[in-house]
Amino acid sequence: MEEKKIPRKPVLYYYAVVLITIVLLNALIFPNIMKRQIVKVDYGSFLMKVDSGLVKTVSIHDDEIFFTLQKKNTAGATGSYEPKDQLLTLLNEKNNETVYSTVPMNDPTLVERLLNAASPNENRKISFARELPKKNSPLLSFLLTWILPTILFYGIGEVFTKKMQQSGLSGGNFMTFGKSNAKIYVQALTGKTFADVAGQDEAKESLVEIIDFLHNPGRYAEIGATLPKGALLVGPPGTGKTLLAKAVAGEANVPFFSITGSEFVEMFVGMGAAKVRDLFKQANERAPCIIFIDEIDTIGKKRDSGMVGGNDEREQTLNQLLSEMDGFDGTKGIVILAATNRPEILDKALLRPGRFDRRIPVELPDLMGREAILKVHTINKKLSREIDFSMIARSTAGASGADLANIVNEAALRAVRMGRREIIQNDLEESVEVIIAGYQRKGKTISIKEREIVAYHETGHALVAAKQSDSAPVHKITIIPRTSGALGYTMQVDAEEHNLMSKEELFNKITTLTGGRAAEEIAFNRKTSGASNDIEQATRIARAMVTRFGMSDNYDMMALETVTNQYLGGDSSLICSSETASRIDNEVLSIIRNAHARATEILKENRKLLDDLSKYLLDKETISGEEFKKIMGNEN
Ligand code: ADP
Ligand code: MG
Ligand code: ZN
Repeated sequence: MEEKKIPRKPVLYYYAVVLITIVLLNALIFPNIMKRQIVKVDYGSFLMKVDSGLVKTVSIHDDEIFFTLQKKNTAGATGSYEPKDQLLTLLNEKNNETVYSTVPMNDPTLVERLLNAASPNENRKISFARELPKKNSPLLSFLLTWILPTILFYGIGEVFTKKMQQSGLSGGNFMTFGKSNAKIYVQALTGKTFADVAGQDEAKESLVEIIDFLHNPGRYAEIGATLPKGALLVGPPGTGKTLLAKAVAGEANVPFFSITGSEFVEMFVGMGAAKVRDLFKQANERAPCIIFIDEIDTIGKKRDSGMVGGNDEREQTLNQLLSEMDGFDGTKGIVILAATNRPEILDKALLRPGRFDRRIPVELPDLMGREAILKVHTINKKLSREIDFSMIARSTAGASGADLANIVNEAALRAVRMGRREIIQNDLEESVEVIIAGYQRKGKTISIKEREIVAYHETGHALVAAKQSDSAPVHKITIIPRTSGALGYTMQVDAEEHNLMSKEELFNKITTLTGGRAAEEIAFNRKTSGASNDIEQATRIARAMVTRFGMSDNYDMMALETVTNQYLGGDSSLICSSETASRIDNEVLSIIRNAHARATEILKENRKLLDDLSKYLLDKETISGEEFKKIMGNEN
């Protein structure tokens, strides 16, 4: 996600501060330090030197007298010497002459003394003068006394703020009290448009309407239609909710404020509410515009969650959001988008008409959607010509847009690893398997006996599947171990997408799942732990048949379970008495028993086929759908 960062002060700025400091030090401080390299003498010795004619030049300041001595061996050479500014001369020209200084005393006779100072050589006179107290240029002293300290303090302040922010004290909040960090997206920044979002046509349609409203509100006003103030994007993770919002920003050409729910959660009570207020204030100033609140469930949870003491900060933030949503004028052109994958936990007040009253479902993509998403993500990739997207889409039922993007990227990585210049079908198929079952673990050592068991187990699944009507064709059987821990698997790919499942189809599915264990039992008279995943899946399906799909004769159409977490895993909880619960268990058990018995029956009838296929699989490690069909056909 490419967000626009709050622009940092350029590094150049800091260089400038350092540079100015150095220049000032050079110009003002160092000369003063140099001045200190002056030999101090008491006033008495100064007078004695004057009287004895040893002094050559004298420069009298308010609070200090500088003087130099005659050089003994340069007699006569400096007689006519009369510098203008003696101190300067002293400092600049007398390279190897020592400068002396003394503190002046209230001594009116000094001038006379200097004039009369006898010198051994009559030509020599002491050159002396009084200096005006020297003033720095006004500009310089202004810089020095006002600007430099300001800059220094500012710099130090910056450093400390940064330190505090880094250490998690969020000191920045003290400085920018109540300012929201809503980032303003403009078209170029997200770089996403509806072309980047494949499938999700219904969602796009709803959003297009909103964008259109922002562009010409007049057309809607004419008929008397008002657009919803807020729209809530709901759907499982990875289906493109955030992507859609970014695409809206790209399409809308209006300011786009984007903020994540968690950004409202602050350490201090009232801070989040202040942020909400500020966000809406900014938005109001820039209407028409769009506000996008990602993961709104963070602040939008039901308030009566029964928690002791509740959560003051979150509730205040939510209340502020609710009142802001009521407060703004719907005709002004502010639309609020929000995204969540837990709509059921949102506070009812958020969902009532006038707030987020439009719900835009962003569901897992169907067959066509998956194919389109694969194509969108391969636009910038080099593909070989024989790629069959439809096949990949068919083998990835239940995958989200994010999964598919990941599959395409894995395929590209694999192509590079294999030293190829383009992605071929095999790369895509292999990466589908990587997503399902993890990477191949060729190095894993498995004993011959275990491999044999795995081969029978997988063949059992495949054979049971193939021998039932209404069962998806076998696409691949493999006994190459995977990093997920699977020792092998059987892949079935439906010719088309199923939206409804009949009781028979579900039962067939369970039968296929029990086929692996059944084959082990028939061939080796053994039960192994290899069936654990099958058992879990079979039980889940059987349970759903009884409790949610009304496929049990005893309960007719009575709901026995509800799904609590529709988009995140789909946990369900029982809503029946405990007696019924135990009877449900019995019923689930009997379904699975029947399925297991049926699978055993099928395999016993086809014992020779089971043996042949298992041997072949043991030999080849992987059987493709065509090979499988051929062997099946030969035997019949
Ligand atoms: P969420 O619904 O969890 O917010 P995102 O919008 O963050 O999901 O999607 C994650 C990634 O998945 C996107 O960046 C994109 O690469 C991919 N993706 C998801 N859905 C689609 C889609 N419909 N079309 C194209 N890419 C998609
Ligand atoms: Mg998201
Ligand atoms: Zn199995």
